[in-house]
Amino acid sequence: MAVLIYTQNYDGKFKKSVFELVTYGKSVADMLGTDVVAVTTGNIDDNTAKELGKYGASKIVKITNSELNDFSAQAYASAIEQVAKNTDAEVIVFGNNPHGRAIAPRLSVKLTAGFVAGAVALPSSTSPFTVRKRVYSGKAFADVLIKTDKKIISLNQNSYKTEENPVDAGVEEFTAEIPANAYAVKPVEVIKSGGKLSVTDAEILVSGGRGLKGPENWGMIEEMAEILGAGTSCSRPVSDLGWRPHSEHVGQTGKVVAPNLYIAVGISGAIQHLAGVNGSKVMVCINTDPDAPFFEAADYGIIGDAFEVVPKLNEAFKKFKAEN
Ligand SMILES: Cc1cc2nc3c(=O)[nH]c(=O)nc-3n(C[C@H](O)[C@H](O)[C@H](O)COP(=O)(O)OP(=O)(O)OC[C@H]3O[C@@H](n4cnc5c(N)ncnc54)[C@H](O)[C@@H]3O)c2cc1C
Repeated sequence: MAVLIYTQNYDGKFKKSVFELVTYGKSVADMLGTDVVAVTTGNIDDNTAKELGKYGASKIVKITNSELNDFSAQAYASAIEQVAKNTDAEVIVFGNNPHGRAIAPRLSVKLTAGFVAGAVALPSSTSPFTVRKRVYSGKAFADVLIKTDKKIISLNQNSYKTEENPVDAGVEEFTAEIPANAYAVKPVEVIKSGGKLSVTDAEILVSGGRGLKGPENWGMIEEMAEILGAGTSCSRPVSDLGWRPHSEHVGQTGKVVAPNLYIAVGISGAIQHLAGVNGSKVMVCINTDPDAPFFEAADYGIIGDAFEVVPKLNEAFKKFKAEN
């Protein structure tokens, strides 16, 4: 028996969210009295793979098939299914991110495993196996029972704190048998976005809405992001209008984010926007309208004109950084 964690690497490196998953998996394994096995793909060196041991993975399985260099949900699900069977995994954990959303449901069909998507906490009990997830666009929680022998959980980013739990991890290579029909759909070209901090990885996001009036006014938003080491994001109309790239659009129909700090500037706080950001640890909104719905959701609010407030905040942040 084991708890298996899918640990996606990005060009041979792991991101913090993967360490959160391994820490989470280790806690689940402790509850079940078993070990954590991590599975990853592609060209990753053993020392990097062993970093997962710091968070409690006792074994790392590297799937070596070169076919997996191109992402295919079917092929990945098939390869991970084989690792899950070889390790007798009872619980399999994914991040609730694009890879997890594509692979986990397919794997759940293959293994006849109950699947909880978007978990936010450890199981409250393992018998019966009960996990908490967000529902209704993040407005409520549901405690969901998984009744099958095999269980799959996808964990929301930033909902479980990383904690070191060092184990001397062994690394094993594995070549999976990938069925030909796993490549019914194959990417022909992958275009990566520029070197900016990605919206889902940023620990702080400075986000702009239609209240900023036009793309020419984003200089102060980018300046704030630069000072805070943050990423930038936006509401949907802003990307629909072409003021900002679609990769920055957050919300129900955009990216779902959960940074430690989300600063919303000139964003009304419509439910479809909040659905994508209300997993943030702390939310701050800056808006001229005291009745803007964002003030109800935010932890801190400034009623004021962004064109006055943001430059003043930028000066204050710079001063604070210089003095500390
Ligand atoms: C099916 C569906 C899906 C959707 N999905 C998404 C989604 O994923 N993401 C998303 O964002 N939206 C989404 N929307 C749109 C959503 O309903 C809102 O229309 C949108 O979020 C509003 O964007 P906004 O707050 O930037 O603009 P507005 O609603 O125009 O609000 C602008 C805000 O700026 C304030 N403001 C104006 N001037 C200033 C100033 N000088 N200083 C400070 N504040 C100022 C105003 O008081 C106002 O509150 C969706 C809608 C539908 C129907």
